[in-house]
Amino acid sequence: MIRTVEQYLESLDDGRQIWCMGEKVSDVRTHPTLSGIIRTASMDYVLPNRPEFRDLFVTQDEEGEDINFLLTSPKTPEDLLRRRECFITGVRAGAGGILVHCMGSDALAALTVSAQVMDKELGTDYSERVENYRKLLQKQDLAITGAITDVKGDRSLRPSKQKQHKDYYLRVVDKQKDGIVVRGAKVHISASPCANEALCLPCRTHGEEDKEYALAFATPLNAPGIKLLAVEPVSRTYGEEGEFDYPRTSTLQPTECLIVFDDVFVPWERVFMCEEWQFSRVLAYAFASYHRLFGTCKMIGKLETITGAAALVADYNGVDKAPHVQKKLAWMAMITESVALLGKSACLDPTTDFGQDVVMPNRMAINASKYTFASNFHQMCQHLQDIAGGLATTVPTFRDWNNAEIQPYIEKYLSAKDGIPTEHRVRLMRLVKDMTGNFYQIDTIHGEGSMAAQEMFLYGSADWYKYKSAAKRAANIAGWQEHPIYGKLLSEIEEVKMPAVDESYKSIPITFKK
Ligand SMILES: Cc1cc2nc3c(=O)[nH]c(=O)nc-3n(C[C@H](O)[C@H](O)[C@H](O)COP(=O)(O)OP(=O)(O)OC[C@H]3O[C@@H](n4cnc5c(N)ncnc54)[C@H](O)[C@@H]3O)c2cc1C
Repeated sequence: MIRTVEQYLESLDDGRQIWCMGEKVSDVRTHPTLSGIIRTASMDYVLPNRPEFRDLFVTQDEEGEDINFLLTSPKTPEDLLRRRECFITGVRAGAGGILVHCMGSDALAALTVSAQVMDKELGTDYSERVENYRKLLQKQDLAITGAITDVKGDRSLRPSKQKQHKDYYLRVVDKQKDGIVVRGAKVHISASPCANEALCLPCRTHGEEDKEYALAFATPLNAPGIKLLAVEPVSRTYGEEGEFDYPRTSTLQPTECLIVFDDVFVPWERVFMCEEWQFSRVLAYAFASYHRLFGTCKMIGKLETITGAAALVADYNGVDKAPHVQKKLAWMAMITESVALLGKSACLDPTTDFGQDVVMPNRMAINASKYTFASNFHQMCQHLQDIAGGLATTVPTFRDWNNAEIQPYIEKYLSAKDGIPTEHRVRLMRLVKDMTGNFYQIDTIHGEGSMAAQEMFLYGSADWYKYKSAAKRAANIAGWQEHPIYGKLLSEIEEVKMPAVDESYKSIPITFKK
């Protein structure tokens, strides 16, 4: 089935144990902070119900019933490309994108791979369990997240060698007739407040001595023993004011939770790995490949917005024709498109090396794409902050703008290029501030003058005569002899009188031959 937004919202009133900013939350849908992320996650249910996006997001199961395409297993490059298109569309449509069908569906895809490998090698029935669970998700159109990252404790120690306790990695503490009992905690888990279910996977390869940690299962987030500790909100301002002051983060945060599993019971039909440590590597690698495809799609929306904001602010400030600005914009466009193209090529040339009926994004291409955005993101932000100027951090707030006594001054003095409404410039600066960071970062770039100003000084003050003399001397071009440093230097050829070279060697350099 494809749920409506109303059905989805109703399902979140499920008695889950969740805290935010030190307070117990009785209903995530009405909480002043959490409701923002619930609204963003609802886009997952808006898009498939819209006629213009239905063909992309909706497919049919073998009984002909409508189901969400992201809950199917990718079998061909075309499936991966369609999955990518769903992610990109979701991210472009809403600030958060496809929140409750990204990590979870990536975990589901990875479980399909590991189950098939384990069944083949061990004769288990994990594939049947995964497919039954998939059907449940499809039939009920559940919102899912992926809980992979363990809290890990001392990073230099393996799970069973930890000193203070044994629960730094989620583990099985009891095996019963009907299921297992698990204990531990997963950290930074996105979309937990807005998901119905969590798919829990190991975050690393485990050895035999750590087999109790080689564990994969699915659980409803309102199961007894589960406690969700939400991270503090990035912005504490919501509604119209939040949208003006924090256009991105006001709808996005907090999504992450520390999920505590206080002896949680999981029935066997929802267990997809239990102590088969040899296969934890397959599962961790498969998840990483699928999830990096989502990561690159998520970044396309972000990078397009950052590059677009840089172009727009250059235009609003009247510096769009400056060569140093155009050079930075060209670089930003290159990074944005490189990430997109590498992600696309990962789908077109997928990995099939597990020999199963599923395809995974090409490992080289998808890791190169993820690495490209992760290693260049701070430079992207720096360029945007640089082009925007110091106003990106000293920009007035919604309350300033709406104060009739001071608005005329803002209107008059914070305008720039003729024809651009001041409000647009202020809103854009708020977006730059919201997306690229805090006072310290922008103050560091623009306090005491912007970087282009320092470049002018540097260019104007550099001792080009010295540098050119060095190059001329090295290239044997006359014109360095008068330089006070290089002109005084002695030539070793002239100064050091060596005995004559023995010319009987075959290898004698041509320059020594008479
Ligand atoms: C906003 C956000 C959302 C996230 N969402 C999710 C989610 O939905 N689901 C999920 O499962 N996870 C999620 N994560 C977790 C993410 O995958 C981890 O943050 C990441 O894997 C790093 O783990 P860590 O935070 O524990 O850092 P650490 O593992 O402590 O890493 C810190 C540094 O230590 C190094 N290091 C760690 N261990 C070793 C070692 N043994 N030897 C050498 N170097 C080491 C690392 O390379 C790194 O440089 C999210 C994270 C963030 C920030």
